[in-house]
Amino acid sequence: MSGSIIAVAGAGFSGSVVARELAERGRRVVVFEPRAHVAGNCHTERDASTGIQVHRYGTHIFNTDRQDVWDYVNRFGKFIPFTNRVRAVTGRGTFGLPINLTTINRFFGRNFNPQQARQFVAGLGDSSIGEPANFEEQALKFIGRELYEAFFYGYTKKHWGCEPRELPASVLKRLPVRFTAEDSYYDTRYQALPQDGYTEIVRRMLDHPQIEVRLGEWFRPETKNDFERVFYTGPVDAYFAYKAGRLSYRTVRFEREEAPGDYQGNAVVNYCQPEIPYTRIHESKYLTPWEKHDCTVYFHEYSFETGPQDLPYYPKRLATDLERLACYQEYVKHESKVTFLGRLGTYRYLNMDQVIGEALDSVKNYR
Ligand code: UDP
Repeated sequence: MSGSIIAVAGAGFSGSVVARELAERGRRVVVFEPRAHVAGNCHTERDASTGIQVHRYGTHIFNTDRQDVWDYVNRFGKFIPFTNRVRAVTGRGTFGLPINLTTINRFFGRNFNPQQARQFVAGLGDSSIGEPANFEEQALKFIGRELYEAFFYGYTKKHWGCEPRELPASVLKRLPVRFTAEDSYYDTRYQALPQDGYTEIVRRMLDHPQIEVRLGEWFRPETKNDFERVFYTGPVDAYFAYKAGRLSYRTVRFEREEAPGDYQGNAVVNYCQPEIPYTRIHESKYLTPWEKHDCTVYFHEYSFETGPQDLPYYPKRLATDLERLACYQEYVKHESKVTFLGRLGTYRYLNMDQVIGEALDSVKNYR
């Protein structure tokens, strides 16, 4: 193979954006993707039995504040505005999440205005906690034990498979607490879903005469010198044959059910109680409200520790992981030909828009 070809490992958003950008600058790119489809964990497909568009690896709502990222994805297909309104089932009833004014009023049986609710919740927080050192302290400091136990403790323990105090505070900081009735899951400016699904968006990104996509093929690190450069978006520990140990991830599995009519009347319902074995139920047809379907398909989501054969989803980033990560980051420094990108390549809990933004930034000055 000629040395002027660029290899991209992985056809998720990171790899596909990099491939497209380089191809548009006249470079030849080969994309290696071990799965049988592109788009990574954002993959969407038509359910064979019901014809409903499903997010095979869990619900992904595109949302961003970055204008360049928004403009970029819109080049590859139509995005339809969509507000994700998550419902959370707790031992005290079902509420809107993130915690907002309506949630607070219903949960405590009150009728606060925003200012009163803010004062009330501040009073619930544990003011003896300084800078929160972990997820649990972040919750106790800002919302207090009652809300923490109802909405976060059980869900988080099931989802991450550890005590919330072992997790970084940054995991909880993903969710806002609002003192308005706004019940969208996200605060971002653009929130939308691709009309034809994510896989179609990524397929169009990769549809370029300068790009060759090899599905069902792993990139082999020992071939790196066959290429001018490598953009690697697979797991960083796998690249180095796990020589500093495995980084831990959670994986999720979905149990599919089908029914006539509707099941839960909403795209995502979370189950926060520890005794319920699944974390959430996704009902796919509520992710394409512009389509009509007489039946429904829904998925119970269960979380597990990632074994060698499982797909990694969520980087756990526990203390031992961070030590191992530091070793891998040292090895990365010596890989002058390889750029590591994306959730797996950098072992960070990144959203789709962050991944796309970083991919665009990483090739900005690449000639
Ligand atoms: N979380 C929770 N209860 C919920 C929803 C979220 O405890 O009902 C916690 C959980 O630890 C989760 C984190 O908040 O990992 C961040 O939630 P997010 O919705 O961002 O997770 P994702 O959609 O990426 O799985």
